[in-house]
Amino acid sequence: MEEVRVFCPATIANISCGFDVLGVALDSVGDEMVVRKTKETGIRITKLEGQDLPLETNKNVAGVAGLALLEKAEYTGGFEIEIYKKIKAGSGIGSSAASSTGAVWAMNHLLGNPFSKTELVQFAMEGERLASGVAHADNVAPALFGAFTLVRSYTPLDIVPIKNPSELYATVIHPQIEVKTSDSRKILKTTISLENGIKQWGNVGGLVAGLFMEDYDLIGRSLEDHIIEPIRSILIPGFNSIKEETIKSGALGCGISGSGPSIFTFSKGEETAQKVAEAMKKIYKNIGIDFDIHVSKINTQGIKIIN
Ligand code: ADP
Repeated sequence: MEEVRVFCPATIANISCGFDVLGVALDSVGDEMVVRKTKETGIRITKLEGQDLPLETNKNVAGVAGLALLEKAEYTGGFEIEIYKKIKAGSGIGSSAASSTGAVWAMNHLLGNPFSKTELVQFAMEGERLASGVAHADNVAPALFGAFTLVRSYTPLDIVPIKNPSELYATVIHPQIEVKTSDSRKILKTTISLENGIKQWGNVGGLVAGLFMEDYDLIGRSLEDHIIEPIRSILIPGFNSIKEETIKSGALGCGISGSGPSIFTFSKGEETAQKVAEAMKKIYKNIGIDFDIHVSKINTQGIKIIN
């Protein structure tokens, strides 16, 4: 096979209590990429539609992640990449992760799958390092594994795939304001109190258990963030009202998606997820901020081949 076209899912990272360690892949929003083998070595990005992003290999996360793979591959040729962006860069739903994972997944596929998913996560993390200055794995892991993932450890990298409750839906609203990932990292404190630590790891454990047991109430109770959200939510207008109104509309919980400005909720069933979407829309219409909104099932497969 010389060429492959893939769907690269958007992802929600952090998921309230799991800063830098939890993430989940979405089904109804993502980019598309075409990757093809070339005789010449190296990587060239030949097309980029939908967003104004650099085509230079070393300035685009797809190029940087791809080069990390190429360095370790026993392959003397190279690749050409076309990127069709549907996820806006800086949205907080894993725009950079979609491109870096799509590139390495497709290349691995064209080479006959010499690398494991965990190795692909490592290559894709180099793309995240370019995008945000930090090689975090909480978006790239769910994009590659599908469903929910836990980064149990970064050194050594240990990714734990987590079961997806079948009736779980995500509603994500992206207010059209700019919050730079680097800025939303800068405002975070580097120390936490023991009291908040105890609350936070209780919730991480509760959330993971709730997902495995399909216990929607436990999932809802565990969607709490005592460390990051109180600081970051200040950057997102209307966050507190959205949280209050979506919970009233039946959402299990509500938090900041990635480093924002997108806000996510989880609901049991599509009907509630749609009701939650209406509550979110109303708030941003009242405030006068434009938005994109997505209601999505959880993507259990991760990146997939499309025609
Ligand atoms: P998100 O939170 O949606 O993942 P990030 O802030 O992590 O967005 O990443 C966006 C940054 O990565 C921007 O600075 C953008 O210019 C850079 N970037 C480089 N290549 C790409 C790409 N192919 N797709 C998206 N962003 C890219």
